[in-house]
Amino acid sequence: MYLFENFLHDIFDIKSIIMALITVGLIAIMMVMTYFLAQRIARLSRTATIILDLIEAAIVIASVIILRQTFWVLNNGNVLSWGYAIAQLMILLFSLYSMQNFAVALVNLIMPLFFYGQALYIGASLQYWWVSAIALVILISVILYISHHQALALDSEWRFLLLQLLYGFAWCMVIWSVRPFHLIYTVNVLVVFIIYMWIIRFFVTRVNRVISHFARLDQEANYDELTGVRNRANFDTTTVGVFGVYRQHPTTPITMAMFDIDHFKQFNDKYGHLTGDAVLKHVAHHFNEELAQQTNNGEIFRYGGEEFVIIFKDTAPTDAQRIVTSIRDTLQQHPVKINGQQLVVTVSIGISALQPDDADFNSWFKRVDHYLYLAKEAGRDRITVEGEAQEFQ
Ligand code: GH3
Ligand code: MG
Ligand code: MG
Repeated sequence: MYLFENFLHDIFDIKSIIMALITVGLIAIMMVMTYFLAQRIARLSRTATIILDLIEAAIVIASVIILRQTFWVLNNGNVLSWGYAIAQLMILLFSLYSMQNFAVALVNLIMPLFFYGQALYIGASLQYWWVSAIALVILISVILYISHHQALALDSEWRFLLLQLLYGFAWCMVIWSVRPFHLIYTVNVLVVFIIYMWIIRFFVTRVNRVISHFARLDQEANYDELTGVRNRANFDTTTVGVFGVYRQHPTTPITMAMFDIDHFKQFNDKYGHLTGDAVLKHVAHHFNEELAQQTNNGEIFRYGGEEFVIIFKDTAPTDAQRIVTSIRDTLQQHPVKINGQQLVVTVSIGISALQPDDADFNSWFKRVDHYLYLAKEAGRDRITVEGEAQEFQ
């Protein structure tokens, strides 16, 4: 009984309540950050995604450090407290559930090893090394499972409960192996930890639902349903910003490339509308993926029908030409395969940079449209850069 009261005192005194509030605050901040980062990640290149993953991991590490420092100050330089241990476990496990990224999983994996190493370093005995070894194996398995099957773990109440039990128990054992305590505390820790995590699960699933709802609205409003690239509405809002940026930094080139599939109507007429759709999708995906591979400054839009526009920021026309030409070349090497047939698709392209004497967006847009027309006139499967129609080399 004494142990239980002692534990309750540790959990419910005023300092612990302050800590609980700070923990909730940190978790709320992590939730909001994750939401904003998740929105960006959907549209970024691989390098940018990795950088954002690292930022998320840094947020987790910062939260862990803030928690430790606060506890340290509140308890006059002592962090040996169950309230503290539970708060740390919550932050770590929450990050694993809410941020689906490798860097956060790595932080979770390193944490117990770091804790164990640090305890040994300051003189803990190696007597129960085998307990830590078993506990670490359990912990690492649970972390890997959650990071790979996040939705599965949140979906089933029993799986969620089992994972919390294993996670909390393994952590208790790691702590016990270097600082043996009365094992009854493990039960107390697990009960409190599981109640807290249950509340967190409630919020994580709700927040995930809201996030996916808004992501769907954003997707429907800004992306083309058939091809998945940005749509005309998004093009219109983006270009307003682009024109403004150019006015402020006229020395930074901005280039527009417009391309249109050649004789697209024939695909529809010869093979049917569904095949036409498949050709459109293939071309859009190909350009979208290759563009993301080649530059961080290009954004592709489906302007309408089988016509697409790419806005290249900080890119001169010759560089834009090099990029679209290479994408066009690989498109020739990857024809559309439908019903065992290979359909070769060609495109015509017009390219022009925004110029100081362009009074508004429209005069630039009309010029690019005209260059595309010149490429068509010259025989299709061609590119017109600043007025000069050329065959692809
Ligand atoms: P050009 O080389 O001059 O561009 O010839 P084209 O046949 O590609 O151009 P045209 O403008 O004559 O025909 C475009 C066709 O694209 C007409 C339209 O029915 C078809 N189209 C537009 N949007 C879609 C779509 O979403 N799916 C399908 N399957 N066809 C579409
Ligand atoms: Mg066409
Ligand atoms: Mg057209």
